[in-house]
Formats: sequence, structure tokens, C-alpha cells
Amino acid sequence: MAGEARAGDEFDVAVVGGGLVGIATAWGLSREGCRVVVLDEGDRAVRASRGNFALVWVQSKGLGLAPYAGWTIRSSNAWQGFSDLLKQETGLDVSFQRPGGFHLCLSEKELEARANVLKRLHAQPGIVDYKTEILTRDQVKVMLPDIGPEVVGGSFCELDGHVNSLRLFRTLHTALNARGVTYLPSHRVESITKEGGEFRLTTTQGEVRAAKVALAAGNANMRLAPMVGLDCPMKPERGQIVVTERLRPFLNHPVVTLRQTDEGTVMIGDSKEESVDPSGLTIGVSATEAERAVRQFPLLANVNVVRTWSAIRVMTRDGFPIYDESKTHPGAFTVCCHSGVTLAANHALTIAPMIARGALDAPLVAPFSARRFHVQAAG
Ligand SMILES: Cc1cc2nc3c(=O)[nH]c(=O)nc-3n(C[C@H](O)[C@H](O)[C@H](O)COP(=O)(O)OP(=O)(O)OC[C@H]3O[C@@H](n4cnc5c(N)ncnc54)[C@H](O)[C@@H]3O)c2cc1C
Repeated sequence: MAGEARAGDEFDVAVVGGGLVGIATAWGLSREGCRVVVLDEGDRAVRASRGNFALVWVQSKGLGLAPYAGWTIRSSNAWQGFSDLLKQETGLDVSFQRPGGFHLCLSEKELEARANVLKRLHAQPGIVDYKTEILTRDQVKVMLPDIGPEVVGGSFCELDGHVNSLRLFRTLHTALNARGVTYLPSHRVESITKEGGEFRLTTTQGEVRAAKVALAAGNANMRLAPMVGLDCPMKPERGQIVVTERLRPFLNHPVVTLRQTDEGTVMIGDSKEESVDPSGLTIGVSATEAERAVRQFPLLANVNVVRTWSAIRVMTRDGFPIYDESKTHPGAFTVCCHSGVTLAANHALTIAPMIARGALDAPLVAPFSARRFHVQAAG
């Protein structure tokens, strides 16, 4: 029931931000019986959810914050169930697949560096035990027959997968609509106060009231969080993606920089630039991505590029998620991360029930509180 709420309407939870983090959380909240409103910007807003690479990715997650590995695996394991629930509700299939994924190496030096990264990751105290193997060229070729002569090997993790993230975006909005969640686009939140036990959110189209508020506004959380006694330090970065024409199926496993979509196109991406200009495109970056893709899969050499775009990653200062609840404004929560496709199952099925109950489950999410930045600052 998009745009039906009148100013002053009251809700159990106001979710600020209609990207994948916000709508997965809102869907989860509606399953908990909450009366939910999603406040969002308009069609032209900067949204990582429309420009991502759509991996549901586990390998190498958690280097520097071991609990992040367990949290990511939890979501990867919950993803099929999440996808099934959405299909039951909407009839839409988001094409989730988890065939295992690769990180390919084009030199022995790269392969050695990859092995060292994984060794350091799995040597961290408290890291959950999961398998990521270093495979030789011959072992890779069994699963990826079209690799080029330069591929010397790579790492493989059976917990890696991918999805059609634009269809996920549409499916979640369809499910919210069917559940009677109020979605208010073009209601940019300008300020949030707490008065008389309720939150008052002043938007560009009037005030909305709610007993709780979940901040899921991506990089904009940095401005909104302090309004409710929270902190959300962000360091956005730009990524660029190249998309080819449709091809015969040849890639049965996603690679961290290259995947074949359920529609047959090939997406190529993995660049990082310190820029927040979503309309900019650095041709040299796309060229480097394409060149590396052709060295990995020479059959791509004469394939047409049909689209390329850039998008801004929702990146916290240390790259790890922030899940937090306010001490000064009880009932206010932050839900913020890069990898919002991968973690969508957690947001819907784990974080949302916590917010509905009114408290985050400390043992599970305390490592992701923004208070970690204060410790670092004090240290
Ligand atoms: C190039 C690239 C590749 C990626 N690849 C992957 C991948 O392979 N796998 C993966 O898991 N993740 C990937 N990601 C990350 C993923 O796209 C995001 O984590 C995910 O889309 C969730 O984003 P979000 O909802 O937090 O933010 P966004 O999609 O940016 O949504 C934030 C929303 O908040 C709204 N908003 C902002 N300010 C306000 C306000 N004041 N009031 C109301 N609304 C507001 C915005 O309009 C927007 O709708 C990638 C991202 C990029 C950029």
C-alpha cells in the first residue's frame, strides 16, 4: 500500500531506507506481526541495491573480525529457506544457487598470496571452522573447463553462491506490498526525535510516528544515527561492473570477479575507487576488469559488452557490518553493512525478530556494534 499513510500515522517500526537491507528487515518485521512503514527516497536516489554484483559470498569473509565469518555462513545457510519463503509468498523465484565459488589466480605469486590470506583468516582465534580449499589448475579445470592457460589455480568454497539481486529487490517489494507494509517513497527523513515514548520522523512529506526505528539508509546512516544516540562511521567507495551479451551456459560456478547470470549474461566486477560519484565511470577500470576476465576465460575476448555502470558501496569505516541499539533512545537500531545481498537472509530471519522483540541478541551481534570504533579510538 505504497504512499497511503497519512502524516502522523503510527507504526510499530519505521524502517528508514528502502534498499535491500531495509526491505529485507521490513519483511522480517512484518512476519513478526509488526505494523511496519518503510520510508525511502525517490527513484533517482543513490542505491547500492540496484548496482551490485549479486554474490552470496563466504570465502575470505572475517579477516580482522572473526565473528563475521560465522555471521556470513549463517546467512549463506539460511538463504535457500529465505528464497523458498519468498517464492511461497510471491510466486517469484530469485534464482538463488549455491554451487560453490572460486577466487582464481593468474600467477603462482597470486596463488601463494591467496593461500596466505586464507591461512591468516582461519588461524584467527574464535573463527568458525569451514572449508576453503586451494586447488591446482587441473582441479579447477574439472569444474571450470573454459579457463585460460594463465589460470594456475585458485581457492574454492562450497558455501559460495549467487542470486538475481534485481529480482530479489522486486520480490521483496512485492512481498511487502502483499503483507500490507506501508512503503513511502520520496519521504526522505530529515530528522528523528523521541518524545513521549515514540519516535517522530520528520520527512520531506510530513511526520511519521513509530514505537521503534531501524536505520537502514546505507551510507546516509552516518548522518541519521547521531539523531538517536547511535554512531555509524562510513567510508563509501565506488565499484564498477561490466555486463556482456547473453552467452551459452559455460560458468557453473561464480568467480569472485566474474559470474554468469541466470539470464546468460556475464557480469564482471571487483574494482574499488575512493569516489562517491555514482554517475562517474573510469573507462580504464572497466578495461582492466575486462582484460583480467579474458585472461581467466579467453572465450570472452570477442563478446559484446552491453552495459557498464558504477555504484557506491555502503562501506562502514572498517568494512564490517554495524548492528546496534541505542542506549539513550531505546527502540532505535542500526542495520548497516556491505554485502547486503549475502546477509539478506540474516536481516530478514535473525535481525528483524530481535528488533521486534526490542533488543539485539548480544552474543550473536555484539561484535558488530559501532562501539568497536570507540575502543579503537581509545586504544
Ligand atoms: C559495485 C557493488 C557490488 C556489490 N556486490 C555485492 C555482492 O556481490 N554481494 C553482496 O552481498 N553485496 C554486494 N554489494 C553490496 C550490496 O549492494 C548492498 O550491501 C545492498 O544493496 C544493501 O544496500 P543498502 O540497503 O544498505 O543500501 P542502499 O541500496 O544504498 O539503500 C539505502 C536506501 O536508503 C535510502 N535513504 C538514504 N537516506 C535516506 C533518508 N534520509 N530517508 C529515507 N531514505 C533514505 C536510499 O534512498 C536507499 O533507498 C555490492 C555493492 C556495490 C556498490
